[in-house]
Amino acid sequence: MSWNNNKTRNNESLEKSYILGLLENDYSVGTRRFNHDDCPAGVDTKRRLYVTIPASNHGLVVSYCHNCMETNSFPIEKTAGSWLSLSNKDTIQMSHSNFSVPKNLEKDYDEFHVLAKVWLNGVFVDKAKAICTKYGIGYDLDTGRVYLPLYDSEGELANFQLRALKGQQPKYLTAKHPEKEHVPLNSVGDRLVIVEDLLSAITLAELGYCAYPLQSSHISTDKLYELIKTYQPVEIITWLDNDNDIVNKSADEIAAKAALFTKQTVRRIQDYSDPKHYPNGQLLEILK
Ligand SMILES: [Zn+2]
Repeated sequence: MSWNNNKTRNNESLEKSYILGLLENDYSVGTRRFNHDDCPAGVDTKRRLYVTIPASNHGLVVSYCHNCMETNSFPIEKTAGSWLSLSNKDTIQMSHSNFSVPKNLEKDYDEFHVLAKVWLNGVFVDKAKAICTKYGIGYDLDTGRVYLPLYDSEGELANFQLRALKGQQPKYLTAKHPEKEHVPLNSVGDRLVIVEDLLSAITLAELGYCAYPLQSSHISTDKLYELIKTYQPVEIITWLDNDNDIVNKSADEIAAKAALFTKQTVRRIQDYSDPKHYPNGQLLEILK
């Protein structure tokens, strides 16, 4: 190290960009320790810089160096994306002021992380780029997750999910607008298919179905009634991943309730995983 780099830097040595770099997008509650690079009190090799996200305030970063005694604290910018990565919950009902797309959202498919492309290609093959453009799918640089938006009847963003790529838990993070509700994809389709996830809904919408992604395996009775009343489908099909008893039970309940709200055919697709896992030919065969 040259003398030039060793100049005294008052509180600048704990500036926000330096601390954020140390955190590497991990905003979980707790204290971590680092060597304070260029510490004004002398070389730190004992990790005397403490950086804390307090349990009492998840939106704050507090840093303190026990070597030079400098301190700095600042709020974390509260976009939906940063709140999601702070939270232990997998779904957050955002306030008006906090609901927004992630701050560092990459919308150019060519610039997505290779894992995002691999995942999207696995479902949409050579149409992945066109599908992402059409449905507004992006890549969130802050969380390293795929951004999956859903819109209301006015075309306004109603909620979005961030889907993990590297085995992070939970697999999906969901941010919801306080009032807006998403509508089905391809709402002009005359057959309504209720699925769990956006990629499955897109797969079916592209085949001409009216496809409603639950973003879970549940739907309220009111919402189901409204869907059927609004879109008047000639057939209602529930297709949830049959991966466990709870989901199976939920699919049964949705089908049973739907049958109360319509005289049209109500069907359940069983013994198959999510629609996104099947090629189009097989989907049409299963649904016919
Ligand atoms: Zn220091």
